[in-house]
Amino acid sequence: MTDATPQPAGSATQAPPILTVEAVTKTYGEGHTAVTAVHEASLQVSQGEFVSLLGPSGSGKTTLISMIGGLLTPTSGVIQVGDVAVSDLDSKALTTFRAERVGFVFQSANLVPFLTARENLLWVAGLRREKGRAARKAAGQHADQLLDELGLSARAGNVPEKLSGGERQRVAIGRALMNDPDLVLVDEPTAALDTAMGRQVVQLLRREIKDRGKTGIMVTHDLRESVFLADKVYVMSKSPGR
Ligand code: ADP
Ligand code: MG
Repeated sequence: MTDATPQPAGSATQAPPILTVEAVTKTYGEGHTAVTAVHEASLQVSQGEFVSLLGPSGSGKTTLISMIGGLLTPTSGVIQVGDVAVSDLDSKALTTFRAERVGFVFQSANLVPFLTARENLLWVAGLRREKGRAARKAAGQHADQLLDELGLSARAGNVPEKLSGGERQRVAIGRALMNDPDLVLVDEPTAALDTAMGRQVVQLLRREIKDRGKTGIMVTHDLRESVFLADKVYVMSKSPGR
């Protein structure tokens, strides 16, 4: 349905790319019901960059970021993260890749509803089977530090329904950083927030990514967020003929 070839709209980058997407296409379904959500998308992101994928609804943003994070496999093309060819991994290797290299922040924060903010962060460490006492202590310290940086220390004991929308998204950012990922992938983090709150969340996200030397890719349809806060913007477009 869409032609989602992104066009770089920023300056050239110096550092070697941590992410390379080469002519990636994703088609859902087969035959005359097939939908090509992403058509030959190519992009490069350097270590430490905070990049935005900007495009209207239906232009393939979620599909592309899901392939980058190893949640979906491309129909064709190559995705390389550091030394890993993500597009070649089998499902077991993808699970490990996601757990060790990627942090996700989704449109709706997707927190575990019966865990507190702090427990939502620690749950990630549990998923990585860090079970020893020293590892648990380190995970607790990491969680507390992230909660502090995100202005959530006083909220750490609240379950998600006792948090505001912006606080929930900040918890989701903390959770995405818990496993010390190379790539932080963020899908429309401000969709459910008002403009001021959204701006604050993206500013915090950017600061965390920059201070920690991470690489961030944020999907948005908000031009202002992209232009003011991203180092580089890739524009995805819809092509009605496809
Ligand atoms: P965006 O995030 O930019 O809104 P998406 O990646 O969600 O775009 O979707 C791109 C296109 O692919 C849309 O036409 C959408 O309907 C279609 N699509 C997305 N997911 C699926 C799916 N699981 N099965 C079939 N079509 C899908
Ligand atoms: Mg989407």
